[in-house]
This record gives sequence, C-alpha cells and structure tokens, in this order.
Amino acid sequence: MDQPVFEVPMDSFTPASALGAPVQALVVGGGLTGVAAAIVCARAGLQTVHLAPPAPPDRRTSALMQPSVDFLRSAGLVDAPEAIGHPLTRIRIIDATDRLIRAPETLFDAAEIGLAAFGWNFPNIKLMERFQSVAETLPNLEVRPLGATGIRRDGNTYHVTLSDGSELNAELVVGADGKKSLVRSAGGFTVREHAFTQSALVCDLELGRPLDGTSVEFHYPQGPFTLVPAGGTRANLVWIDDHAVLDTIRSSGPEQLQAQINHKSQRLFGRISVVTPAFVFPLSTLSVDRAGQDGIALVGEAAHAFPPIGAQGLNLGLRDVADLAAAVAAADPARPTWSVEAARSYASRRAADLGRTGGMVDALFRSLITDLLPAQALRASGLWALRLAPPLRRRAFSLGMGVARR
Ligand SMILES: Cc1cc2nc3c(=O)[nH]c(=O)nc-3n(C[C@H](O)[C@H](O)[C@H](O)COP(=O)(O)OP(=O)(O)OC[C@H]3O[C@@H](n4cnc5c(N)ncnc54)[C@H](O)[C@@H]3O)c2cc1C
Repeated sequence: MDQPVFEVPMDSFTPASALGAPVQALVVGGGLTGVAAAIVCARAGLQTVHLAPPAPPDRRTSALMQPSVDFLRSAGLVDAPEAIGHPLTRIRIIDATDRLIRAPETLFDAAEIGLAAFGWNFPNIKLMERFQSVAETLPNLEVRPLGATGIRRDGNTYHVTLSDGSELNAELVVGADGKKSLVRSAGGFTVREHAFTQSALVCDLELGRPLDGTSVEFHYPQGPFTLVPAGGTRANLVWIDDHAVLDTIRSSGPEQLQAQINHKSQRLFGRISVVTPAFVFPLSTLSVDRAGQDGIALVGEAAHAFPPIGAQGLNLGLRDVADLAAAVAAADPARPTWSVEAARSYASRRAADLGRTGGMVDALFRSLITDLLPAQALRASGLWALRLAPPLRRRAFSLGMGVARR
C-alpha cells in the first residue's frame, strides 16, 4: 500500500470535545467527501470531530478519473483500485438524436494519451467502506452519528448545536453536508442554483454482450443514456431524461423499465436485464461565489453540484479535499486567526478549478439538451474537431480529467 500523504504523531491526543474546549476542525456531513475531509484534517494533526448522521447506503457508482484515483492512492484511501473497481479504457459517444445537425460517432481511447485507463468505476458503498476503515485508525478523529441543527459564530469560534441538543465549539468548520448545506447558509455564502426539468435514473444492468471497459453514451435530445462498465457483462446505467418521463417509467414496473432500456440501448449489447431497483435523482446546478470564508470551508456538493455528465461531481469533491489538505497542512493552529486564514487559503486554491469545471459541465449539459440550432451545430462541429485533431483531443482529455487546473 502507498504511504499516506500526511504523517501524524498518534500518541498525544485527548478528544478536545471531552475537555469542553473548541475542537480544531468540525466536519459536517457523512458522505464520501465528508469522510475524506475528516481524514485529511485529522492527518494534518488537527483534533477533529466528524458529524455523520446515519444515512441510507449510497447505491450509486462513481466514475473517478485517473488523477482522482492517484489522489486516493497517495492518501492511502484506496490502495488497489482493481480490488473494488473496474477500469474505464474507452469512451464511445453516439448521437442518438434525429436533429438536423448530428454529431459524428466518436471513440476516445485512453491509450491515445499513454494511459491504461481514463479512470475507474467504483461502487460508492465500497469507497465508503475503504474511507471509513482509514478513519477508524486515526485517534484524533472522533465520529459522532449526529447532525448539526444550528451554527452561530462568536469571534473566531463557531458554536454548533447537534441533533441530540448538545453543543460543540469549533475553530474550523468544514461543510460537507450536501446540496442543502446548513453550514453554507450559516456562513452566508452567495449561492447560484438552477433546477433542471431533467432527472437521472440509475440502476444496474446485465448485458447480453460485455462493454469491455468502454463507457457508452447515447446522446438523446432530453439527455444522455450512459452505460458504464461494471465488470464482465455488468453495467451501471445513468439515464438522463425529463423527470416526468423517468418517474412514469419507473413506476410502471420492472418489465416496462427493462423494455425501455432495451429500446434506448439500440440493442447494441444484446438483451439487457435490470438487476437492481432503479433510483431517480432530480438534477440541478449549484455553485458558490467562493468555497471558503471566515473559518468555513465547503467541500463536495455543499460547494458545487452538476448533472452527472462527464463524471465530474465526486472527482471535483476529491480535488476539494486535496486542496483542503494542503490548506490545513500550511496553517499554523497556534495563531488565533489560523482557521480564517486556512479557509481563505482553501478558497483561493479552489477558485480556478471550480469556475472552470462548473462552466464546462454547465455548457456541455445545456448543449446536450438544447433545441437551438447554433448550439447543436457548435457541439457537432466540436465533436468533429475532437475526432480529427489530436492536439484538441488531448486538451479535451486533460480538461475532462481535471488535470488542466494547475
Ligand atoms: C446519478 C448520479 C451519478 C453520479 N455519478 C458520478 C460519477 O460517475 N462520478 C463522479 O465524480 N460523480 C458522480 N456523481 C456526483 C457524486 O455522486 C456527488 O458529487 C457526491 O456523491 C457528493 O458527495 P458529498 O459527500 O459532497 O454529498 P452527499 O453524498 O450528499 O453527502 C452529504 C451528507 O451530509 C449529510 N448532512 C446533510 N445535512 C447535514 C447536517 N445538518 N448535519 C450533518 N450531516 C448532514 C447527509 O446526511 C449526507 O450524508 C453522480 C451524481 C448522481 C446524482
């Protein structure tokens, strides 16, 4: 296993919350970015409390690009990707619209940029198991199965009320509490949100023919229908369509759902069976003007949310965590204003990546669902250019994988 990026002396910690003193870092939210953020805060030597109220298991999978997988390995969060995930070696895009201007079918191969895979597709449950097993080894990380119900600032300290009625004081508060973040509203961050009429339906499929590592995206007018390789003849479906359409199909029973999926896949992969229940997620975009201020740092969907296209959400969340790790490692907790400085430093580290990725995903999603001819033409010509011009393809790969940020 690779060495963790941070080494922490493990002997001298007494849980600060037991002393009534402010904890140095309080991480709110028990999703994947929350657990990862709590780990990096504790590894930077901060006395850390993690509020992770019980939540239903997240049955989705996440396509994580190679730089995210490299981060997980270097942070000791995933040592052997092949033990829990499946490599994504190619991306095939099929324009399934009957629009006037259609895009060419395009195949991107990781070998073109000298990589064995663009990334890996992981079950979120497996990632969570790995992250939690690492968290359990950190003596200065206390996990409480409670939510935050109120947050108030007093100088450089936050007073946080917990769901059992108790209170906790914290110097740095990390908001990893998702799209409806309480930490974000308590911190007075400026938020931009837009709800789409589309949702995403996800479920697992058994295909008649394997995808062989190729993620296949059919671009329909209402949104992409994507088959992500999940090993052998298994695939994870992410189907974006009008919310009403998906809701009707899902509630009309498994046979109807299966028939629709077979139709949408154009039978390119033989007969398809649905092997898990389907879940529908409403889609929206959300962004903040800055990701940190006044001793608060926002990570994951508390700071940004997108439609699940181009596999950006958790990838960006892990880049938040990597920058949070750098910001807290550079801080000097002996200084009274350290948490304010750390949050400011975190915000400036995140600014360019959040702006670039948010803009890219938003433009891509809107170009996929638009009925406007100029946007269709732009997208089709963009895909032609990507097909024909290797330098452009390489640039697109770097942007999509999040490596063009530094
Ligand atoms: C259909 C779909 C497919 C996706 N596929 C991909 C993909 O392939 N690749 C990719 O990179 N991304 C993908 N994403 C995005 C990815 O799933 C999210 O970015 C990621 O799960 C966000 O994690 P999070 O920890 O920030 O938020 P969440 O998982 O929403 O966790 C927030 C947590 O905070 C807790 N919480 C809320 N309020 C409080 C409170 N007051 N106190 C304490 N706790 C609180 C909640 O209980 C929850 O556990 C996909 C998203 C969708 C919808």
